Amino acid sequence: MRKTVIRGCLYSVNMERETEREAAVERLAAVIGECRKCPLWENTHHAVPGDGNPRADLMLIGEAPGKQEDLTGRPFVGRAGRLLEGLLSGIGLTRDDVFIANIVKHRPPGNRDPRDEEILACTPYLEEQIRIVAPKVIVMLGRHSSRYALSFLSVEFDRITEIRGTVYPGLLFGHPVRLIPTLHPAAALYNPAYLEALKEDFQIIGHELAGAGGAATQN
Ligand code: URA
Repeated sequence: MRKTVIRGCLYSVNMERETEREAAVERLAAVIGECRKCPLWENTHHAVPGDGNPRADLMLIGEAPGKQEDLTGRPFVGRAGRLLEGLLSGIGLTRDDVFIANIVKHRPPGNRDPRDEEILACTPYLEEQIRIVAPKVIVMLGRHSSRYALSFLSVEFDRITEIRGTVYPGLLFGHPVRLIPTLHPAAALYNPAYLEALKEDFQIIGHELAGAGGAATQN
């Protein structure tokens, strides 16, 4: 009897924590929707805070929303997004299993690269998302997000092709995490060699994820 009560308590505490995590992701998305910390919002339709499973073991970080993302408010829904979904499916995951975010949350005009001051203004949101979701593996898609995340481990690089697929274990905001830089899926849309490289890297990602806990999501 006593055992059942204790189990019941633990279960409800965990449930509360998970609900809190989901609510925290939603609250943050609402704040991002109202953000005016840099001028990027001025020419956009929607903020793109990021979405997916708030309990995901795997977080993917892209660069910035493009046209389709701006129109829908969701990350990676254009051609690069479809390619990303194919790569995820190759390791047995769907986008509902993972959390997908970007370095900047509003689309830069004409899809130009985000500027340093925009990245500086926006990345506290990403950092909060990392704290809330607490993923075991973070995959950085492309050089901007790789440069940002690896700076926490004091790792510098010239070309993303030199470090792609390397696993960098470290502590991020107090959580042990494995950081894996790879190419941006958009780069692979017209380059078969990059697509092969991405497929290779996703095998490494699948392997690391299995080693880090064995499941796509924390249950
Ligand atoms: N490219 C990105 O980096 N992020 C998106 O959300 C879409 C395309």
